[in-house]
Amino acid sequence: MSQVKYKRIILKISGEALAGDKGQGINPTVISHLAQEIKSVHDLGVEIGIVCGGGNMWRGESGEKLGMERAQADYMGMLATIMNALALQDGLETAGVPTRVQTSIEMRQIAEPYIRRKAVRHLEKGRVVIFGGGTGNPYFSTDTTAALRAAEINADVILMAKNGVDGVYSADPNIDETAEKYSELTQLDLISKNLKVMDRTASSLSMDTEIPLIVFNVNTEGNIKKVVLGENIGTVIRG
Ligand code: UDP
Repeated sequence: MSQVKYKRIILKISGEALAGDKGQGINPTVISHLAQEIKSVHDLGVEIGIVCGGGNMWRGESGEKLGMERAQADYMGMLATIMNALALQDGLETAGVPTRVQTSIEMRQIAEPYIRRKAVRHLEKGRVVIFGGGTGNPYFSTDTTAALRAAEINADVILMAKNGVDGVYSADPNIDETAEKYSELTQLDLISKNLKVMDRTASSLSMDTEIPLIVFNVNTEGNIKKVVLGENIGTVIRG
């Protein structure tokens, strides 16, 4: 454990990161890759909470654009995050990692309800806790959920797993050749430079809690472990 920099982490996995190349749905190869990556960190004794997004299946905003009521569409998004949580649980358990899914919206037949103290107990016992259902409230995001759960469980860091992007850039590196990668930023920088890393509610909460956030590319093998060991990959965003 001595070489581990972060002993308790929240890993934020967006829906997109579960979808692979197609950008939609759940890709089993991606799930098993992620499971192995998470296992390598679990094997170090790191306590891991995971917050799943749902954008690979449904986003409230898209529903609103189709004419739905926003809150209703957001609840559908929350359900999508629970499907992802179950898929990830399956992958992790196949890899031999003990897990519990806790949902912010009760679904007792398939997962535990979110109970902070119980979640912490699971972590202490070496179980990976997957938080499904976001905050349980419409108009919020799973980035905000990551910031919230990180504060609730006293996480040392939030690791924001990105699909193919290795940090935060001044512009889109796929479009702009002059785009530069930042190694360090503050939450205030994200807002003032209008960098789309997380939404403002999530940034503002992270500013209050001062829990650092690290944005990194989860597709490269060994990266989650590198971040946990304190290697300087990706972009660190301080509160
Ligand atoms: N959502 C919500 N409240 C929350 C978290 C999520 O209403 O606390 C809904 C919202 O509609 C969102 C969808 O769930 O669009 C999927 O979550 P998110 O967009 O954060 O997923 P990601 O972009 O990380 O895949």
